[in-house]
Amino acid sequence: MKALVYHGPGRKSLEDRPAPRIGGAADAIVKISKTTICGTDLHILKGDVASCAPGRILGHEGTGIVTETGVGVTGFRVGDHVLVSCISSCGKCEYCRRGMYSHCVTGGWILGNTIDGTQAEYVRIPHADTSLYKLPAGADEEALVMLSDILPTGFECGVLNGKVQPGCTVAIVGAGPIGLAALLTAQFYAPAKIIMIDLDDNRLAIAKDFGATATVNSGNGDAAAAVMTMTGGVGADTAIEAVGIPATFELCEAIVAPGGVIANIGVHGAQAPLHLERLWDRNITITTRLVDTVSTPMLLKTVQSGRIDPRRLITHRFKLGAILDAYETFAHAADTKALKVIIDVQG
Ligand code: ZN
Ligand code: ZN
Repeated sequence: MKALVYHGPGRKSLEDRPAPRIGGAADAIVKISKTTICGTDLHILKGDVASCAPGRILGHEGTGIVTETGVGVTGFRVGDHVLVSCISSCGKCEYCRRGMYSHCVTGGWILGNTIDGTQAEYVRIPHADTSLYKLPAGADEEALVMLSDILPTGFECGVLNGKVQPGCTVAIVGAGPIGLAALLTAQFYAPAKIIMIDLDDNRLAIAKDFGATATVNSGNGDAAAAVMTMTGGVGADTAIEAVGIPATFELCEAIVAPGGVIANIGVHGAQAPLHLERLWDRNITITTRLVDTVSTPMLLKTVQSGRIDPRRLITHRFKLGAILDAYETFAHAADTKALKVIIDVQG
């Protein structure tokens, strides 16, 4: 089969690899129909993710058809149309029993990291019963690819951890796919204001279209002052960090309101300053989280009912044979205006 393989920092190729086989009783093999590229894949290619070894097939998002199941799989059959979750969970370990699937002792984020992933014609899914979701008949497959990772990530790590409430003020730092996913799902709770902050005017225009009530271009270094002016000097009840660099975390510290929450989503590769000298008496909370994908069944329903339309995050489409071009397009988003790119694997 064709697969996109990581060969160490800065190196990847599309090559022929043997199709995966059932390894354990709980495994399923899924023939991938649609997949996508995540910012995390770019982190791996920079060499930021030590757990991902050269030779690994990348990708942790996608939809497809079950082609084979291990003897222990009872919830899925050959021919089932499924959504692959970026998080694999056994459903039995202590963390899984607490709903913290991201820390499953034999799962978590392993796809396209410590085991081969979804940027291929076939993928082996361990713990299939508790890691796959059946797609409703007639589902919009491209829209649902956004449910493998970015929608639950924006919702769980940003909106739920950030305690977004009716009438509150939300500031989202970073208008990339994850920040926009937080923007879409924050609106379930009817906040009064959602302020999007980014360096890219194109992304800010999209954010406006997606429901942001105000936008701030942080290019002049004065984003904190702009947010304070917009909020009457109070700040944001929820400040969502959706970039993963020290400057954006510090911006959240500068704009969080008394009693508010800084909800971190970004993947941080460097130490970010914690300004306790300013924050110690402000009754704030700082949260971190790896997505557990506990909200995936709920999000599936909201997409099915048309309550949210994650298809709006898709800007480009490629065949698997052109996945290297897809990486180029996704990696140069400022020029290409890319948000999410769909890879059509069987087309
Ligand atoms: Zn991802
Ligand atoms: Zn587990």
